[in-house]
Amino acid sequence: MSTCYNILLLTKGVCVAKSPNWTKEEIDVLTSNYPLLGRCKELQDLFPTRTMEGIALKANRIGLRVLNNIREGRTNEEYLELLGSTNFIAMEKYKGSTVPILHMCGDCEHEWLARPQHLLRLGAKCPVCSLKARFLSTDTVDTTLNKANLTRLSDYTGSLDKLLVMHNTCAHEWWTVYSYIEQGSGCPKCNRGFGYKCKDNAPDTAILYLFKIVVGATTFLKLGITCRPIKIREREIRSSIGIEKNPNISLITFVEGSSIQILDAEWDILHKYKKYTSNIKFVGNTELLNIEDMEEIMKDMKLYGHNI
Ligand SMILES: [Zn+2]
Ligand SMILES: [Zn+2]
Repeated sequence: MSTCYNILLLTKGVCVAKSPNWTKEEIDVLTSNYPLLGRCKELQDLFPTRTMEGIALKANRIGLRVLNNIREGRTNEEYLELLGSTNFIAMEKYKGSTVPILHMCGDCEHEWLARPQHLLRLGAKCPVCSLKARFLSTDTVDTTLNKANLTRLSDYTGSLDKLLVMHNTCAHEWWTVYSYIEQGSGCPKCNRGFGYKCKDNAPDTAILYLFKIVVGATTFLKLGITCRPIKIREREIRSSIGIEKNPNISLITFVEGSSIQILDAEWDILHKYKKYTSNIKFVGNTELLNIEDMEEIMKDMKLYGHNI
């Protein structure tokens, strides 16, 4: 049997052949089970054709997080694997998610007894680090936020307390916790499903484009934002799909406006219409729409064009 895959993923020094694309059904199963199960045999059993590594990678990519992990019967090995994505080190054998065992903090080397389920929560900190973070000066917090191009809109009361922030580039406001921002979490509006990320030097104007793409027997729409000539974006997509697949890409329509207006318009359209899931891998394949909706989307874009 030929196993000639052209992409290899290097994970923890192990070469793994690229696994087949995820179907919508599989993603649904993953979405409803991963947060409760995490990396464990039960989850693996749901995807007999995939490796645990591949499953966890996918879960990570689509932003799934393990919830409390209150699961009986998790093995020590499974726990250590989960702990691998945190900064904590287990100093004793796992005895259950609610049984305290000795751990060490990888940041400050503090050792203490902790319940595994607490350490697997997103944003968990050791007691010493947590105390330190709690007494961060407002100045320190604001300096970090400033670097991330964010403005603090509520009082800072602790690194794991609720904090209202605003993204200066797109003016989006949301509740988060400082600890997440510190770990690099960005603006949910700009980063969620947009092939475009706000930068400090975000351009004044941008273009929202709609391409019709035909590859072999499949036809779909690609919506996206670019700050460069559309022609260049089209060539990029063509090469990303693979020139040998001979994709036919035609520009259906486009709207130009301020980058914030364009981001909003893309957001609206992507959330109004059902997304199209393509088996073809290419950069930007998360913002695809069904060809059946083309007329309606064109009308929407024309409307945006008049209002901008
Ligand atoms: Zn610590
Ligand atoms: Zn933003």
